[in-house]
Amino acid sequence: MDVAADPRNEDASVLAPTDARPDAGLPAEPFAGYRKPLARAAELALEYLESLPDRRVGADPAMAEHLRAQMSRPLAEAGEDPESVIAELAATADPGLTAMNGPRYFGFVIGGTLPAALAADWLASAWDQNAGMHIPTPAAAAAEIAAGAWLVELLGFAPGTSVGFTTGATTANLTCMAAARHEVLRRAGWDVEADGLQGAPAVTVVASDEVHPSMVKAMRIVGLGGRTGLRVAVDDQGRMRLDDLRRALDLTFGPVIVAIQLGNVNSGAFDPLDEIVPLVRELPNAWLHVDGAFGLWAAASPRLRPLAGRLSEVDSAATDAHKWLNTPYDTGLAFIRNEAPVRAAMSIAAAYLPASPAERDPFEYAPEMSRRARGFPVYAALRSLGRRGLADMIERGCAVASFMAERLAADPAVRILNDVVLNQALVRFGDDDALTQEVVRRVQADGTLWAGGTVWHGLGAMRISVSGWSTSEADALQSVDAILRALHEAKQA
Ligand SMILES: *Cc1c(COP(=O)(O)O)cnc(C)c1O
Repeated sequence: MDVAADPRNEDASVLAPTDARPDAGLPAEPFAGYRKPLARAAELALEYLESLPDRRVGADPAMAEHLRAQMSRPLAEAGEDPESVIAELAATADPGLTAMNGPRYFGFVIGGTLPAALAADWLASAWDQNAGMHIPTPAAAAAEIAAGAWLVELLGFAPGTSVGFTTGATTANLTCMAAARHEVLRRAGWDVEADGLQGAPAVTVVASDEVHPSMVKAMRIVGLGGRTGLRVAVDDQGRMRLDDLRRALDLTFGPVIVAIQLGNVNSGAFDPLDEIVPLVRELPNAWLHVDGAFGLWAAASPRLRPLAGRLSEVDSAATDAHKWLNTPYDTGLAFIRNEAPVRAAMSIAAAYLPASPAERDPFEYAPEMSRRARGFPVYAALRSLGRRGLADMIERGCAVASFMAERLAADPAVRILNDVVLNQALVRFGDDDALTQEVVRRVQADGTLWAGGTVWHGLGAMRISVSGWSTSEADALQSVDAILRALHEAKQA
């Protein structure tokens, strides 16, 4: 009963007598209600996962309107049986799903989900732990501490580097930018958490012309502006040019944040970290940040690590677990060498929050307070892979990308525009933008694989990103065949 609307109750501050009983509508055995919908969901999930090698990869775009209509029914007064809600949801959603976690999805930089990571994520949902604080859920906190420590060592960060679990690389970049902003302004005598940015010493952000847009968004959100910084020219692979970085750094004064990237989102190329470090360290007050949303994982392979450079030298770095570590959405990681700045930026205190002075409270390392226990899937992914398995998975992605690039390049109408140093290949057809676009369109319509389009240094290209753990040589061959078939059909059309 709506208390305020009750005519007997003009004064809503006095609780009206109500006809509702405390357990009105509560099932007799509420916890027995999980079994059927969860068992059904597990069955449906397994059917979906086992269909991944064979199902059409892209969602059917013609289904979008139908899906909206199917889902946008009026909400009934009476609730429905949970199991049939789940079964119907799965049936309705199916044609609108993309096999992003399948073996022939090469779009954006997506990645699949490892069995152990997905299963741990189910448990994280079932346990429903609010992972923000240590005291209420020491298990969630312990998983983050363990997984974080493994990652610091595996990726070669300085011992003691702090790790924050975020929703993705965008928020990991944001977390790092908030820490960087705190620290360079603190050194300039300004308390940005207390006094904000109005009247603060100007902070100069230095990034390359090919900085990822989410990095620019992070700068915008922390009030440093998306357009105000200095941009450094890149070379033909999209790497920051050292001569131009020197020129830019010479122009700076006062607090400086230099944001580089390991893994250009198109070419996969790495900014030359080891050469950049000494240039940044010459400045009196500078912070060096790395956006390594996917490229950072190269450091987990002893063979590929030299590409990344010495990560122990950086002040902060962002990456995604939901890309190349193949955990489910959503998990990003913010690594910050000295934790004081990130805690200054993220900490809060309130009388009702149990302070745990001896323990690490996860919310001091990321923007959110209440949040999902993301440490569990990361922990399970790493344990199920082991060191060798992680390195193999990363190396395999690179090997598949090179293999596909080589096979495609054997056709005289195909040109690979980048040096395939990592898991990214840029493929151009007939040296022609329109033909390239048409091949991308036909490949997506065909459904054998999914790859997107891009523009690389003025030239249209198809972008192949191999980030899933499950792509085999047979998948690579099947995909190459489908791409060449689309090329020949496009040429004939
Ligand atoms: C994907 C990506 C991001 C953004 O990551 P989200 O997880 O989507 O927030 C940032 N930088 C680079 C280089 C990326 O590839």
